Amino acid sequence: MLKFANMNKYLDIFLNSFSDYFNYLVNEVSNPNWSNYFYWLIALSVFVWLIEILIPWRKNQPVFRKGIWLDTFYIFFNFFLFSLIGYNAISNIGVELFSDFLGLFEIKNIVAIQVNQLPVWVQLLILFVVADFIQWNVHILLHRIPVLWEFHKVHHSVKEMSFNAHFRFHFMETIFYKTAQYIPLAMIGFGIQEFIIVHLFTVLIGHLNHANLNWNYGPLQYIFNNPRMHIWHHAKELPKHKPFGMNYGISLSIWDYLFKTNYVPKNGQNIELGFEGDEDFPDQFIHQTKAPFIRK
Ligand SMILES: [Zn+2]
Ligand SMILES: [Zn+2]
Repeated sequence: MLKFANMNKYLDIFLNSFSDYFNYLVNEVSNPNWSNYFYWLIALSVFVWLIEILIPWRKNQPVFRKGIWLDTFYIFFNFFLFSLIGYNAISNIGVELFSDFLGLFEIKNIVAIQVNQLPVWVQLLILFVVADFIQWNVHILLHRIPVLWEFHKVHHSVKEMSFNAHFRFHFMETIFYKTAQYIPLAMIGFGIQEFIIVHLFTVLIGHLNHANLNWNYGPLQYIFNNPRMHIWHHAKELPKHKPFGMNYGISLSIWDYLFKTNYVPKNGQNIELGFEGDEDFPDQFIHQTKAPFIRK
């Protein structure tokens, strides 16, 4: 049973995480350098945007396409305010709750695999592949479970694709994804530092997946998700045999090919994007954020 003293401990963890990450963020923004998360995200965004402007797939799509400002706002909201500050505060409690729960059964250590003995690049590779597979599964649930789909609709409300559409998603998605992924990864002993390196790599791939680029990386398309594949994930009209959608891959496409959820029937350059009924979906941040909580 959770005692009152414990509740205070969790509250402390929550508040400390907030102030720690707030300080961290202020420090990041005020000290530009090569290991700086904030400037890497901006650099990656500008980089992918420039390629898109130089060699666009849909030549008639405006550089300042529909939704560009909304999505730029989403980058800052989802990445900094929520992902770095708010989410870490919640996840630190998650880890503490979990170890307290194990403590009830007098289990002190559940680390089954000693990953920290392995070379760093092997650790990063394991982290990347395991996290991606977990996310692929979560993504399928977002499409199949009606309550979760209400949140995921925000991401599918994109009507014109560009790199920053990547970050248009409801903040609850961070909770769904990270809870499913952080707990098992923390159990095998990965720290937040490793998360950041892997995370930047996934940001680059994710930006490219949504970019206005005619790329599929040739034979690597069967390993990595890519713009020509992910655009079909956003198709408004779904094939009869795939009523919940297809191409659920986040960074890797290999899971879709392995489990037969892949679908790239033709060049998807000009297919209509969205979902059934998206005409009535709000196009402002605040209304999109509230939408899943409102009973219809
Ligand atoms: Zn989706
Ligand atoms: Zn997407």
